[in-house]
Formats: sequence, C-alpha cells, structure tokens
Amino acid sequence: MDERLKTQDKLKSWEIHNGMQLICPLCKFCSDTHDHLFFECMYSSQVWRKITALTWLPQLSNWRAVCNCLSTAASRNTSTSVVAKLVFGAAVYFIWQERNNRLFKNSHRSEVKLFDDIYNTVRLKLMSIRFKSSAKVERMKTTWQIL
Ligand SMILES: [Zn+2]
Repeated sequence: MDERLKTQDKLKSWEIHNGMQLICPLCKFCSDTHDHLFFECMYSSQVWRKITALTWLPQLSNWRAVCNCLSTAASRNTSTSVVAKLVFGAAVYFIWQERNNRLFKNSHRSEVKLFDDIYNTVRLKLMSIRFKSSAKVERMKTTWQIL
C-alpha cells in the first residue's frame, strides 16, 4: 500500500502543478488527502462508526490516533486487541479499495455494503483463530456471529 500511496502523492503534485485539484471520490466534495479519505470523509466516518461500535476502538480521527491505539493493542495479545488489529487492517484496506474502484472501475458500494464486507472479512479471520474461552471471548464471538 505504501508504494501506491507514494504514487498518489506524485500524481497529486502533478495535478496541482497543472492547476487541477483531486476531489475525494467517496463524498465527491472535499479534496482527496489521506486524512480526509480515511477519517474525515462523511462516507469513511460512517463506516468507522459502525465498525468501531463492535470493538473497544474509539472513533479515530487521524493517523496519529490510530498509531497510538494500535501500539497499545500490539503490546497485548488479548482477543480485543486481535479484533482491533483485524478491524483496522480491513477497514483501511476496503476504504482504499473503494476509492480505487470508484476512480478506476466506475463501481460503487454503499457505506452499508462496505461495512458488511469489512465485517465478513474480520469474521472469517476470527473464525480461523483459536481463543481461550472466557466471558469476554464469548461476548466477542456473539458480536461476530461465530458459533
Ligand atoms: Zn470524502
């Protein structure tokens, strides 16, 4: 992803150089910066709100908050921190993919559909992990519909 982000930055300086501005393809309103795309955008923040409601993650508003949050999660190995890492990875991946689909493939998903895709991806990964049973783990399994 880093490589592609770099490409985007190069593209952006080229666009600005040519007197144009890239508009966020998700809301078609604000300019397309990374903080906007992943956090400030109406579309992305609705997705985050729905997905973070399923975890202990707070509503994250910028990359710095995410890094702080993930470094706390990385130092633990509990079911909640595993969920946080999977949720964050999947959300960033799908938001970035949605942006590119809109830009290059002319395909659109609603916020609800994107949330479903993130939910199902995280759910499948959680199903492949064996957690030691506890009240917390059972609650987590209920949230993610794991039998
Ligand atoms: Zn936007």
